[in-house]
Amino acid sequence: MARIFAVANQKGGVGKTTTTVNLAAALAAHGQRVLLVDLDPQGNATMGSGIDKRTVPSTVYQVLIGQNSVAEARARSESGGYDVLASNRELAGAEIELVSLDNREKRLKDALAAVDEQYDFVLVDCPPSLSMLTLNGLCGAHGVIIPMQCEYYALEGLSDLVNTIKQVHAKLNRDLKIIGLLRVMFDTRSTLSQQVSAQLEAHFGDKVFKAIIPRNVRLAEAPSHGMPGVVFDKAARGSQAYMQFAAEMIERIQTI
Ligand code: ADP
Ligand code: MG
Repeated sequence: MARIFAVANQKGGVGKTTTTVNLAAALAAHGQRVLLVDLDPQGNATMGSGIDKRTVPSTVYQVLIGQNSVAEARARSESGGYDVLASNRELAGAEIELVSLDNREKRLKDALAAVDEQYDFVLVDCPPSLSMLTLNGLCGAHGVIIPMQCEYYALEGLSDLVNTIKQVHAKLNRDLKIIGLLRVMFDTRSTLSQQVSAQLEAHFGDKVFKAIIPRNVRLAEAPSHGMPGVVFDKAARGSQAYMQFAAEMIERIQTI
């Protein structure tokens, strides 16, 4: 059975896509069968997986509106070693189209059921909003991974997301839980980062992943080469941190 995780945070630029792409590639490197679902119309996870969003024949949009199955729509990230349900600007229209469809929050969940046996992990990169697309990500998932930067307003934004997750849990998806908070773009020399990090641990205990992803320029450079950072530069500190995070995820799914 595939374990499905949404990578979500309604803030933009907090490392969702970088986390999804690198976790996918790191899990694949650990021998896991992985499907990445790009739910952001910006298509950054698609491009970062080495798939051209402008020419890809089919995307998650066709899946959500029921035109294609996952098996028909998926593409392969050759660089990353995992499958991708790609995305591009067309997906922005789905937001409106979904409203008039049956079961609108559960379209992704239902579509993924058909490939459940084919993957160990499905990772869903959510857009920076609490929209119908994100709702599809949350309704289809067993758990949420929340990447966050350890800065002053980080905790404030977190409560909106935690409330949304609680509501989805109560009304739409009893399976859903927060798997963990991942500290990303971490600057070990910053006192503020250390303080916010300590606050997070005090507040969320072992919901905070042990792995910490440092700020590392190699991770930021990788997408322009159409490769996940962990493939582009295995030795980079950021890549090693994502490999550790993948190992932690494999361990953590034994207990959830
Ligand atoms: P989101 O998907 O939440 O909008 P991204 O993953 O696209 O965030 O990250 C935002 C920007 O920060 C991107 O330019 C990305 O390359 C960069 N970035 C993400 N994680 C790191 C990191 N650990 N070190 C350095 N740059 C990073
Ligand atoms: Mg993104």
